Amino acid sequence: MKPITLLGSTGSIGTQTLDIVAQYPDRFRVVGLAAGGNVALLAEQIRKFQPEIVAIADPSKLNDLKEAIAGLTTQPMLLAGSEGIQTVAAYGDAQTVVTGIVGCAGLLPTVAAIEAGKDIALANKETLIAAGSVVIPLIKQHGVKLLPADSEHSAIFQCLQGVPEGGLRRILLTASGGSFRDLPVEKLSSVTVADALKHPNWSMGRKITIDSATLMNKGLEVIEAHYLFGLDYEQIEIVIHPQSIIHSLIELQDSSVLAQLGLPDMRLPLLYALSYPERIYTDWQRLDLFKCGDLTFREPDHRKYPCMQLAYAAGRSGGTMPAVLNAANEQAVELFLNEKISFVQIPQLIEITCDRHDCIAQPSLDDIVAVDAWARQTVVEQLYAVK
Ligand code: NDP
Repeated sequence: MKPITLLGSTGSIGTQTLDIVAQYPDRFRVVGLAAGGNVALLAEQIRKFQPEIVAIADPSKLNDLKEAIAGLTTQPMLLAGSEGIQTVAAYGDAQTVVTGIVGCAGLLPTVAAIEAGKDIALANKETLIAAGSVVIPLIKQHGVKLLPADSEHSAIFQCLQGVPEGGLRRILLTASGGSFRDLPVEKLSSVTVADALKHPNWSMGRKITIDSATLMNKGLEVIEAHYLFGLDYEQIEIVIHPQSIIHSLIELQDSSVLAQLGLPDMRLPLLYALSYPERIYTDWQRLDLFKCGDLTFREPDHRKYPCMQLAYAAGRSGGTMPAVLNAANEQAVELFLNEKISFVQIPQLIEITCDRHDCIAQPSLDDIVAVDAWARQTVVEQLYAVK
């Protein structure tokens, strides 16, 4: 029975991970849960999975949580705030910590988990994008595993099993194209938040759904792939694949190409990250090639999706630039979700913010936390420039 801790338990990644635990109660045990502020769902999860320790990020909700679980005979240790989340991440005998917190809020808890010797099932890509130069050496220093739970990186990781060192030549990251893949570029300036949240293939949290519509998600995944698989940016390409059946491909030195296929279901990469290297039997819906129709591919349109180029540029700059890109994107997406800016102003604000940043080549964790705050503030200050 593998003990696991789940950060972001009330979100899309969190609830799907708990579906897996519920389905395999003899394989996984929940040690810790952490969430942002959804008291009702967190209380229900405590009742069902009986964790030893729980944290809620919003301290004003701690009393509500205490009241919501007052009737339980076995009470978990309850904590609040970002320090509480970090304590949960590092706590007890959990072997793997699933990072399902959205955004750079996941960074310090992930670092705490690594320093406590936990393997990381990484969904929270923002952590690696902002702080890959700090996180990767920490992973090595503490001898823990960094297992990708993002579907594309899981696909690459699965294809890489058995490939000898030096055998990988290129990564092809597939992208659905998001909510506006069939919309002409001229119409993007008038799209609404509701339009952007209608993802054609995946049901995910709000932030990543907007990132999919701008294709920033794919840009962030390019940086994630750079850190996870150690390739240069020239060796990582984006391919639009509207059906989301091929989750990514690798090309080997001899020009052979391997792909991983499956229905768009996040439980599959999550299960593999939890069970690696085992393959566990599931009774989930299986891919039927006779029913899934044509699989098509096209080049991404950089005029329509400027975020991709911004991400490649930030990745190539290295240092603190990816952290600035990531934080500027988080802030701009939040402004869009709150209807303060239009969809096309998201990349404009990110570009202005990256242009104004003096990159630190070899940042510490403190530098990354500081530039993250600077970039968020800069986006707000520069709002006038895009109006
Ligand atoms: P959601 O918005 O659905 O969930 C986010 C989770 O994070 C919630 O549990 C939320 O708590 C919690 N949270 C928010 N802020 C904080 C905080 N400051 N401290 C602690 N917890 C916090 O997001 P997703 O599940 O979609 O995404 C999570 C991560 O996984 C993202 O990094 C995303 O890019 C990545 N990912 C997601 C995929 C998906 O299919 N959803 C696919 C691949 C990657 P609460 O709701 O209680 O406020």
